[in-house]
Amino acid sequence: MNRIDLRGGARDPRHLLPRAQLDVSVAVERIRPIVEAVREHGYPAVREASERFDGVAPEVLRVPPEAIAAAEGTLDGEVRAALLESIARARRVHADQRRVDHTTQVVPGGTVTERWIPVDRVGLYVPGGLAMYPSTVVMNVVPAQAAGVRSLVVASPPQQDNGGLPDPRVLAACALLGVDEVYAVGGAQAVAMLAYGCAVDAAGSAHCDPVDMITGPGNIWVTAAKRLLRGVVGIDAEAGPTEIAILADDTADPVHVAADLISQAEHDPLAASVLVTPSVALADAVDRELARLVPATKHAERVGTALRGEQSGVVLVDDLTAGLGVVDAYAAEHLEIQTVDARQWAMRVRNAGAVFVGAYSPVSLGDYCAGSNHVLPTGGCARHSSGLSVQSFLRGVHVVEYTEEALREVAGHVVTLANVEDLPAHGQAVTARFSDATVRTGSE
Ligand code: NAD
Repeated sequence: MNRIDLRGGARDPRHLLPRAQLDVSVAVERIRPIVEAVREHGYPAVREASERFDGVAPEVLRVPPEAIAAAEGTLDGEVRAALLESIARARRVHADQRRVDHTTQVVPGGTVTERWIPVDRVGLYVPGGLAMYPSTVVMNVVPAQAAGVRSLVVASPPQQDNGGLPDPRVLAACALLGVDEVYAVGGAQAVAMLAYGCAVDAAGSAHCDPVDMITGPGNIWVTAAKRLLRGVVGIDAEAGPTEIAILADDTADPVHVAADLISQAEHDPLAASVLVTPSVALADAVDRELARLVPATKHAERVGTALRGEQSGVVLVDDLTAGLGVVDAYAAEHLEIQTVDARQWAMRVRNAGAVFVGAYSPVSLGDYCAGSNHVLPTGGCARHSSGLSVQSFLRGVHVVEYTEEALREVAGHVVTLANVEDLPAHGQAVTARFSDATVRTGSE
C-alpha cells in the first residue's frame, strides 16, 4: 500500500489522505440519459439498460411470488441458519432503537408532540454486480419493518445464471423477511424505476408504483442515480464503494489488521483500505502480511487493485492523538480501533459511519451478525450523515395543540414578531380569535 508520512508536522491532513477521486458528478452525467429514458419510456428503457449493463433483459420485471418461495426452498441449511441469526440480531437492535413519540408541555394548555411516522412506501436497493448481498436485504428490510413501513419493494440486478432473476440467495432472504414485491433490475435504471414508477412490462403483468424513499448501497452508478434523484424521492446517505480505516498501535496483531484491510478491499476495486498508525513496526508487519495473504485470497485481483489504488494506504502519525485527528478528518464508513484502551479511544471518535472496538469486533462481524446496520455513509459523508437505521424510515412531525387561554397568553408576542417581518396577516390570524382588549401585547 502507499505510505503517507504525516509525522512531525501539524499539517491539516484532510487533503493528504488517500481517497479515490471518485467523481460522482461525472457518473451523474453518464447515467442521466438512462434515468431520463426510464422516466419517459418505462419498461422498454429498463430492459434496454439491463441488456446493456447486465447482459440479460428480464421478460417480467416483477419477480413472481412462486420464484421467491422457490428460492427459499433451495437455500442451503447453514446459510438459512446464518441469515436467521443475522435477522434476529438486527431485529433486536433496530426494534430497541425506534424513537417514541414525545410530548412537551410548553405552558399549561400548550403542547408540542413529536410524532414519528413511518414513510409509506420504500424502495430498497440490493447490489448484485461483483458480489451478491443477501445480507443487504436484511440490513435494508429490518429497520424499515421496525419503523412500521407499510409497503416495501426490493430491487436487485437480474443475473444471467438465474434466468434473469436476482440472485437466488437475495430472493431467499426476501422470503425469510416476508418481502413479496421484488424487481429484477439493477443500477441507475433500478433507482429511476423506483423513483418514477414503471408502467406495464412486456408480459403485461406487473408494474411498479413509485416509492417515497430509496435506500441501500451500490456502486458508483447507483450512487450517481441516487444523487440525481434526491428530491424526486427521499434518499438515504450515499453508500458507495466500501471503506475501512483502522487506527492501530503496536499492540495490534498485524495478521488481524491485514485480514481486515483485505476483507473490505474484496468488495470492489474502488474499495478503500486505510491504516493509520504511529508504529512503523506495525506498518511494516502489516505490509508483510498483505504480501503473504493477498495472493492466497479468492478475489486476489480485485483486492490487489483496491489496496494499490490511490484510495488505500498507510498513514504514519506521531501518536494516537494525531491518529484520531486523521481518522476524524477521513470520516470512514467503517473505523476499527485496535489500540491499547480501545474503548476509550473509540469514545473520542467524532466522524465515522460505524466504529468497531478492539481485537474481537472486526468489520466483517458488523457486515453480517453484530446486530448493527451495514448500510453506511462513504466518501466522507460520515461527517454529516448516519448509517441506515430505524430512524431513517421515520419522519418526525410536530403536532401543536394550544387552548384558547394558552394562545391568548402568547398572542401579543406573535403579533409583534409578525409585524417585525411585515407579515401583518399572520398577527391578524391570531387576533381574529380574540377581542383586542383581551390580547396581551408583546410589550406588556
Ligand atoms: P451494484 O448492484 O451496485 O451495481 C451493478 C449494476 O451497475 C448493474 O446492474 C448495472 O446495471 C450497473 N452498471 C454496471 N456498469 C455500468 C456502467 N458502465 N454504466 C452504468 N451502469 C452500470 O453491484 P456492485 O457492482 O457489486 O457494487 C456494489 C457496491 O456496493 C460495491 O461498491 C460495495 O462496496 C458497495 N457496498 C456498500 C455498502 C455500504 O453500506 N456503503 C454495503 C454493501 C456494498
